[in-house]
Amino acid sequence: MALQNVAVIGSGLMGRGIAYVAAAGGFHTTLFDVSAAALDRALARVRADLDEGVARGKLSAAEASAALDRLEPRREMEEAVRGADFVIEAVPEDMALKLATFARLDALCGDEVVLASNTSALSVTEIAAATRRPARVLGMHFFNPVPKMKLVEIVRALDTADSAIAATTEVARRMGKETVVVRESPGFITSRINAMIGNEAFFMLQEGVATAADIDKAVKLGLNHPMGPFEMVDLVGLDTRLAVLEFLHRSLGEKYRPAPLLVQHVKAGRLGKKAGRGVYDYGERS
Ligand code: NAD
Repeated sequence: MALQNVAVIGSGLMGRGIAYVAAAGGFHTTLFDVSAAALDRALARVRADLDEGVARGKLSAAEASAALDRLEPRREMEEAVRGADFVIEAVPEDMALKLATFARLDALCGDEVVLASNTSALSVTEIAAATRRPARVLGMHFFNPVPKMKLVEIVRALDTADSAIAATTEVARRMGKETVVVRESPGFITSRINAMIGNEAFFMLQEGVATAADIDKAVKLGLNHPMGPFEMVDLVGLDTRLAVLEFLHRSLGEKYRPAPLLVQHVKAGRLGKKAGRGVYDYGERS
């Protein structure tokens, strides 16, 4: 029987976006967070996003109202997963928290339920080992902003079964997403390539190959990327990018060593748009 009920655990930036696409995709969706304030904020944001979707002609007013009717906030995890066929976890990126959350989900959910983690970088195999169903645990890596970004990377852990990958592909398709399947490995496909391009751009700037603006212009107009690498890193945060590169450097080797100019920018507090200044100057803090 087709899956009907999706539970989303954690209602922050990612969880609320995942709840949006689940409800809009026709799933009866429950959303759980330990913080009542976070849950309230998430619902307000989903409502605003649905209104925006209607204003931009992405969905009709009737579809938006039906999606909202399918979305139910829950203050208890037990209630959130009752009747769920598929669970997506989006709690903060902390292994101890993920392990505790999966052990609890494993105890609360029926044996057939797939438990997916939206982790950016932690080992899904290690998370799966906290459960008695490692064959039904995998990674489901969404991108921010979830309603707009088309891709989901499905991460196959050591023991993930093909049937769990197939169920996840179908859930993502109904959420309007394209999927790729990737064997668990640092940075999956996207973060690894993105970090490499971004790091190379800093090496080029450091060597005086071209100005930052010209490197961005060349990548956009010559390679057809929607954003230049410096525009992108200013948005992501230079500190976040440095942390990803340090992780890739530790796990994959020398070619991921962070460019000294990137490290210097972080030391100077030039963390990107959020700090008012990164590679570019944004005038004031935003
Ligand atoms: P966030 O801090 O915005 O949201 C996390 C939410 O989880 C908060 O609302 C918090 O109250 C809640 N929470 C904390 N402990 C909980 C618990 N025990 N049970 C239920 N809820 C709990 O974080 P985020 O940016 O949404 O990231 C969530 C996950 O998604 C992380 O693993 C992150 O690495 C991953 N991710 C983030 C991005 C991104 O661009 N931010 C992209 C892809 C994946």
